Amino acid sequence: MLRTVTTIDDLRTSLGLLRFPDHTIGLVPTMGALHAGHRTLLEASSAATEFTVATIFVNPTQFGPHEDYDAYPRTLEADQALLEDAGVSLLFAPKAITDLYHPGFGTWVLAKDAESDDILCGAHRPGHFRGVLTIVAKLFNLIQPDMAFFGQKDFQQAWLIRRMARDLDMPVDVRIVPTVREDDGVALSSRNRFLSPTDRAAAPVLSEALAVGRTLIEAGVRQVSQVEAGMVAVLNTVPAFKLQYCEVRAADTLEALDRIDGEVVLAIAGFFGKTRLIDNDLVTLTPGSPSSILQGASSCSAN
Ligand code: AMP
Repeated sequence: MLRTVTTIDDLRTSLGLLRFPDHTIGLVPTMGALHAGHRTLLEASSAATEFTVATIFVNPTQFGPHEDYDAYPRTLEADQALLEDAGVSLLFAPKAITDLYHPGFGTWVLAKDAESDDILCGAHRPGHFRGVLTIVAKLFNLIQPDMAFFGQKDFQQAWLIRRMARDLDMPVDVRIVPTVREDDGVALSSRNRFLSPTDRAAAPVLSEALAVGRTLIEAGVRQVSQVEAGMVAVLNTVPAFKLQYCEVRAADTLEALDRIDGEVVLAIAGFFGKTRLIDNDLVTLTPGSPSSILQGASSCSAN
């Protein structure tokens, strides 16, 4: 049975009842509008821990002033049904912003270095990761999970959270779960519903560009600029897609590279109209060999 709590006091009471010695707790933080992508995180958590706690909170501090905070879909009842069906024990779904940001709130978690925050999405969404890291740190403090599950779809976010847990000695094993896609390759996202039918039909161009990048690397291309150019050429076939970035970086450090060496992340972001889409793929130099990133916490190295 799913229990929904909306206040920190009720969350603490419910967690007290759930916490048994030797029972592990898995956390799946979300902003709601749940889909099959979220569901894989819940399933990964249920498989690895005794109790899964999900959270739904559209976190205002990770939205920029001109972003879609007000328009972000809010579908609590359908979300509760999905969580119930997925066997989740507890949902923390605060009703008001002030439930988590108390009056006078003024303490933030910042990942401020050129290698991680000011690149990729961080370069285009100032303050976004400050909001993400702060809310996730608060949820880690409140729930004290043994493991927490994040999607590869938001790769930079998951990478920064994993490093935050390590840097700030948070005893949480941060797991990254592969991206779930529609049949045509489009990564599931709560924002896909905002795409016009024409843009939705063109949206597979992101995963097609990623596939071309992978093919080039697997064919032996090692020059990053060549791989990026190959991907951009695919993205440019769809004029409606306004590219923000298309980059190949080291997957373990997020550093820019001239030549591909080791595991890399191919990352794309851009807009169809007002709807921002992101996607990425992890590629190792040995075709078919597993990613070292989609494992436990030890694989994040941030220099
Ligand atoms: P959100 O509700 O968008 O904040 O996402 C909550 C979590 O679900 C994040 O860790 C996301 O990376 C993850 N997620 C979102 N979409 C997908 C997807 N298509 N596949 C896997 N995980 C996802």
